[in-house]
Amino acid sequence: MSLLVGLTGGIGSGKTLAASFFKELGAYIIDADQLSRNLVRPGQTALNEIVEYFGQDILDDKGNLNRGKLAKIVFQNSKEKAVLENILHPKIFKKEQEEFLKICAHDASAIVIIDAALLIESGNYKHVNKVIVVRSNEESQIQRILSRNDFSFDEVKTRMNNQMSLDNKIEYADFILDNDLQQADLRKRVEELYPKLLSISKTR
Ligand code: ATP
Repeated sequence: MSLLVGLTGGIGSGKTLAASFFKELGAYIIDADQLSRNLVRPGQTALNEIVEYFGQDILDDKGNLNRGKLAKIVFQNSKEKAVLENILHPKIFKKEQEEFLKICAHDASAIVIIDAALLIESGNYKHVNKVIVVRSNEESQIQRILSRNDFSFDEVKTRMNNQMSLDNKIEYADFILDNDLQQADLRKRVEELYPKLLSISKTR
């Protein structure tokens, strides 16, 4: 039978890299971040709801969501963050379920992995069969994100402080993937874990 697995961990912990290794082994990947970006494209209900609450100023001059501006608002105010999450999370769950069913329709024994930074915080861990947490030390996380050059040091710190602590996330984990060493080590750990997921899917 198919198996739906949530893959999470802190910012820059190596979720996407781990997902790419699972993909090489035959798993299907659903990228929650990509789904959420698609949901806020112009014309989408979610964007209309965001504009209704946060105002037209949240759009840039081309009518696209100004993600940086929105991030600044929600990271400074937990009430605003909750409003945004209430708009987005149910729609993301729905899309994930739709994608999962689509995959299962053509592969009844699919291992489907949702790469989702906020799997636990959003409550979506309740909708998956197993949870994997990628564990990495804070220093590596910061260095990796900074070398990717999409955030400043302060932005990385703010995002880290806004996520649930790693220790807390681990309480929800069925499996932990350590990613403190080289990429090849993470690949090896993924290769060790994948057969376990396959055997769980067969006994379901
Ligand atoms: P985000 O939370 O931003 O989505 P993520 O958890 O998905 O991040 P990745 O994108 O997989 O993390 O990794 C962050 C960066 O660090 C990427 O450029 C990735 O190639 C690199 N990276 C991940 N693991 C390692 C490692 N063990 N050694 C060296 N670089 C790594």
